[in-house]
Amino acid sequence: MSSYTEEFESKQKPADYYAKLYEELERINEKFNAFNVLVKATGNGMPFSVKDNICVRGIETTASSKILKGYIPPFNATVVDRIIRTGRFSLIGKTNMDEFGFGSFGINCDKPAKNPLDEGRVPGGSSSGAAVATALLKYHVAIAESTGGSISAPAAFCGVVGFTPTYSVLSRYGLIDYANSLDKIGFMARSADDIKIMLDITKGLDKRDSTSSSKPIHRVKHNNLIIIKELMDKVEDGIKSEFYKFTDKLKGLGYNIKTVDFRDIELSIPSYYLIAMSEASTNLAKFTGFKYGFKVEDFSKNYNDFFTEARDKFGEEAKRRIILGTFIRSASVRDKYYLKSLSIRRWMIDKLSMLLKDAFIISPTMPILPPKIEDANRMTPVQNYASDILTIPANLGGFPHISIPFSYSGELPLSAQVIGSHFNDYGVISFASDWEKNFKYKFKYNLGDL
Ligand code: GLN
Repeated sequence: MSSYTEEFESKQKPADYYAKLYEELERINEKFNAFNVLVKATGNGMPFSVKDNICVRGIETTASSKILKGYIPPFNATVVDRIIRTGRFSLIGKTNMDEFGFGSFGINCDKPAKNPLDEGRVPGGSSSGAAVATALLKYHVAIAESTGGSISAPAAFCGVVGFTPTYSVLSRYGLIDYANSLDKIGFMARSADDIKIMLDITKGLDKRDSTSSSKPIHRVKHNNLIIIKELMDKVEDGIKSEFYKFTDKLKGLGYNIKTVDFRDIELSIPSYYLIAMSEASTNLAKFTGFKYGFKVEDFSKNYNDFFTEARDKFGEEAKRRIILGTFIRSASVRDKYYLKSLSIRRWMIDKLSMLLKDAFIISPTMPILPPKIEDANRMTPVQNYASDILTIPANLGGFPHISIPFSYSGELPLSAQVIGSHFNDYGVISFASDWEKNFKYKFKYNLGDL
């Protein structure tokens, strides 16, 4: 086992360790905006952070949305509770993100986080701050969340390990929902072994989340790796050639690699976005300024003005998704879009499950390098959504997957994503762990000895 958590636990720490860490984080946060809230850690555990759409008792939780400004949850999310109860971890802050999880680059919020490996570029999203914090800090693990790639994408763009479990393995209690049938809490860290520690602690049934599962997760290691041709066609040439060098090394370790056709895998994008937006528009309907969300004080206003004042606090992408999601669910087009998307999801799960019976699926994590901030801001919504092509199939199907950095292209990290069958969560983690042991990836930042 080579985990930073265990290394931290066996390390001598000065008495003012957490005070120094806090000061240092205040300083670097000015530059990188990784945290929405910094917390003065108590205890003596491994520093950990929580994405800002996951509730922590007594600490402002806004999902980077103005509509939730000032919301202080009176309870902990189950995953947070389970981590804290061990006494092995100390909270250092709530991490920045795309508002409500809507985005792939971390730019859909008021103060976007910056990529530490190149400040002119995006860190990836929606769990942008979790990835930035993990890239900056040697001793730190992050609780993040993915609906359609929000752990893999930023982990890849910042060069850290990002794990998304099988849907239902981690309780969603205390998560501010984006799309309930797709949301998964997961982790980022600097090693697969740290992720295993977090998963051991947090997995399993929670009576407060009726979709959480009591099914045990397992560890089946496969020697067969599948590459999907149609996915590789979407990858930029430079990334493709580095990825094939990586798979050549895997061949050298004894893995069999096979390329297969999966025509129409691209349909996962519209299917995912239509389902996700439908559910998102329903979830956001409660933020009216009446019971939930920004409080409108003036009750003399008429109906439209009252609700408009509150709902105008949503950012542009959130508004777009509310409008599209509401349309998709409307009676006249429901069958054409929403139900069709559900049947594509079912078909996708069946096809991918067949491939995953005795193999892992492997691909680069992202088809592009982290774009420059101004280029990302210029992308159309459809171009933006298309960048999720490699991360969405696993998310749409609820399959466990892990993004592992394997090399650099100049200053920018390159990562591969490995997908396993349902409940083979330990299988993909141990694949990543084996990879790390064989090939040492070098992290660029270690803030002093913190
Ligand atoms: N980019 C995807 C979206 O915007 C995924 C985001 C996520 O996983 N929260 O929906």
